[in-house]
Amino acid sequence: MVDYTFARKDVLKRTVIIEGNVINTAPLRIGGGKANFSPSSLARDEVLKDVLGNPVIPGSSWKGVFRSTGERILRSRNVKVCSGVGRDYCLNNKRKADYFQRLIKEEKVEEALKTFWDYTCLNCKLFGTMSVIGSVRFLDSVSSSYTLGVRTMVAISREDGAAARRALLTVEFVEPGSVFPFKLIGYNLPNYAIGYLIKIMKNINDEYVQLGGLKTRGFGFVRFENLSFTSQGDNKIGDEDKPVEITHVKEKDFNNFFEQMKKFVEAFESVSIPYPKE
Ligand SMILES: [Zn+2]
Repeated sequence: MVDYTFARKDVLKRTVIIEGNVINTAPLRIGGGKANFSPSSLARDEVLKDVLGNPVIPGSSWKGVFRSTGERILRSRNVKVCSGVGRDYCLNNKRKADYFQRLIKEEKVEEALKTFWDYTCLNCKLFGTMSVIGSVRFLDSVSSSYTLGVRTMVAISREDGAAARRALLTVEFVEPGSVFPFKLIGYNLPNYAIGYLIKIMKNINDEYVQLGGLKTRGFGFVRFENLSFTSQGDNKIGDEDKPVEITHVKEKDFNNFFEQMKKFVEAFESVSIPYPKE
């Protein structure tokens, strides 16, 4: 009998919280939508803000960055993974999407769980797919300590099919050194999945990954600080996992945090992930 706990939403065996601060080391631009962008006028493109005007990195952005960074890590290790973008997701790729929907509709819970377990990758299980929510939730990061800047850029628009038009665009961004809170909550995470998330965070912290827009202009680098980790519940989830006894870690410096979390990273590096099936 396979232990499906990692994929189950009906039982809670473990809750993991990783939280701390994110500081941008380069200008950061997460746009608030370009609906009013007009190529013929001087447009002002603002960053995404909450109702009080504080800049926000939405949880959905974190999820996207973690998923795409993780995809690269998994591919480099020859672990099967989908991009989760458009129609490239495991249940669709395995031709199980319709079958899975039918099982859900007919409330065949056990068979649906088995299908989800067998035919989805680590990213689908962690970050969600189709009608299944992921095992990790990212909270919106709303900054309370920030500076906003603006830069005027030349935007080239070809949307009318005619000759390219050049227009000036005033782009707002968050100045380096601004501070955002960061928090993720994981449900029923195996130790190897925790190690995988930590490895993704190291990639972000080491500036292999950028957040938001204007990446080619060097925007979007961030680092983590004052991170804490807490785990409540089981110290091992699933047959393929190995126990890790660490339940609390708190470190100001990211590299010290990473060092304290090494056992989880080792669990990730040594695990043989039994899914997705062929
Ligand atoms: Zn997948």
